[in-house]
Amino acid sequence: MSTRVIGRGKCPRCGRIGSLVFKEISGNIYVYFKHGREWCYIGPASRVDLSSLISGIELYHTFTTKFRELLEVHLGGLRLKLMVTFMIGVILLISAYCISFINLDGYYSSVSLMLTSISSLTFMLSIALYEKSITNGKYVFQVRVLKRSLIAYVILTAFAILIVTILALPLKSPVNMWFKYKMVIGSAPIKPHSHHVGGNVTATSIGKAFTYRAIHLRVPLASIIVASTILTYMLRPLSLMQLVLCLIVSPFIAYLILFTLSMIPLLILGLKFMEALSFIVYSSINLSIPVVLLSIALMLLVNVLLKIYSIK
Ligand SMILES: [Zn+2]
Repeated sequence: MSTRVIGRGKCPRCGRIGSLVFKEISGNIYVYFKHGREWCYIGPASRVDLSSLISGIELYHTFTTKFRELLEVHLGGLRLKLMVTFMIGVILLISAYCISFINLDGYYSSVSLMLTSISSLTFMLSIALYEKSITNGKYVFQVRVLKRSLIAYVILTAFAILIVTILALPLKSPVNMWFKYKMVIGSAPIKPHSHHVGGNVTATSIGKAFTYRAIHLRVPLASIIVASTILTYMLRPLSLMQLVLCLIVSPFIAYLILFTLSMIPLLILGLKFMEALSFIVYSSINLSIPVVLLSIALMLLVNVLLKIYSIK
């Protein structure tokens, strides 16, 4: 003999609210309503009008589900946790900015980097909470773009990465990636008495001095972390094949644009196109690699967090 509670509803026998229970006795299923310790026998499942009972139960459940959701929103369900977690991430990131702008040396850049790292972990937690709390209508905007075309989605992702990368450039970090290019824009013989060489002038053994223009692009590790965070967020609605494409192509496009922008002064001064292009492509690949690797790690982290949430 086994019993199974189907749900709550109104008992057709006594009119009270109770639990609808199926009881299996030697292969036959019997329907009961249970009111605390009291049981009302309704009849064998084959002869009872189950549809009327079930529709009543459904109504009851729609109401309870909606009520529960309403309570969760106001009294601390997943969505509230999501909001709080997201806000903590934002506050951490703002703190990292403030510390960067105070512009103190050494120790403070480490603090800024640490805050940025914790904020990205917090954002991963909010992604997991978001996916757990919203059962339908997830990533509505992204899905709409994705339905148009995958290329549009890749470009959207690239622009998101570009914008956060530029915004995060001022973040202080003890670890930075440097991208430098020097371009000789002229040479002149050194005057006999000119021994002091500095600034933009370099002495050479043949007695000539070259003047050059250079670009120095400093990309702090904090910026790479922020870029990986937005990339991970943008990758969430994608299927595996789309994900792989977007993961590789989007950061590359973003950094192609970033380095092209940074090379504009030298291009105006007459840098050869092929030289500029090779620098831009080489640098873009170099900057993409840590972003791609970090995004894969963050992606795994979100999946682990989702696993933890489903165990609960
Ligand atoms: Zn009853």
